Amino acid sequence: MSKCPVYEELESEVLLVLEQLVDLTTKQLDAFQAANQPLFMRLDRQLENTVGRKERTIGALRQHVRDHKCFTR
Ligand SMILES: [Zn+2]
Repeated sequence: MSKCPVYEELESEVLLVLEQLVDLTTKQLDAFQAANQPLFMRLDRQLENTVGRKERTIGALRQHVRDHKCFTR
């Protein structure tokens, strides 16, 4: 079964964004435990941006599957 390159690209983008969320959340947990308020707030903004990016990327992936009717597996 051949794979759709657009699907693969969007899929790897979703994976990347999810990994970034894990990374940022871990850092925010550390900042919280260290009571580092400035760092905590900075990470909070980054998390909000990354969540927004995740939603857009997942939206694009779903839209592509609807329009193109393709699956990689
Ligand atoms: Zn496709």
